[in-house]
Amino acid sequence: MHLKSLTLRGFKSFASATTLRFEPGITCVVGPNGSGKSNVVDALSWVMGEQGAKSLRGGKMEDVIFAGTTGRSPLGRAEVSLTIDNSDGALPIDYAEVTITRTMFRNGGSEYRINGNTCRLLDIQELLSDSGIGREMHVIVGQGQLDSVLHADPAGRRAFIEEAAGVLKHRKRKEKALRK
Ligand code: ATP
Ligand code: MG
Repeated sequence: MHLKSLTLRGFKSFASATTLRFEPGITCVVGPNGSGKSNVVDALSWVMGEQGAKSLRGGKMEDVIFAGTTGRSPLGRAEVSLTIDNSDGALPIDYAEVTITRTMFRNGGSEYRINGNTCRLLDIQELLSDSGIGREMHVIVGQGQLDSVLHADPAGRRAFIEEAAGVLKHRKRKEKALRK
């Protein structure tokens, strides 16, 4: 399994549709300060379901929508699509290629899709949760985050291990079932 491409439309500084293609192996994103490198990483975690505006370096979720520049008006929606090569079947879905899409409108509404079919956030989280990628997999390590791993209390450390072992999904399902 590897990430094939990422398309941003109206996400942060990417007003026009922009597609980045990835090959297996290491990808480096280079560019001047403020050119949008971190915005690409934000788009990755956002499309995988990130719900915290702060984790996306914003004050509110709406901040992910292109806010306009002197020459260009703000946009009404942000959309990011991530295409994953699943020819090895690492994701529990019967497609060799999986595209997950997240759309958010300025009025607050949002949509998630898997291969074009509308789905719930939970479906995306479950699809990714055993794959080693996804929002809570600590696959995206931000600046200062290493410290929080090293200084975690026992409960925090247990959560990291549960994620790595793939049992977190089941614990969350159990918690959800018990709340009903
Ligand atoms: P550095 O090398 O300093 O880390 P970077 O390449 O990571 O820079 P980013 O943080 O990705 O840069 O991009 C910052 C730019 O994105 C800023 O110019 C900021 O104004 C712009 N930006 C962020 N959110 C939006 C938005 N909603 N609408 C328009 N532009 C935005
Ligand atoms: Mg940056």
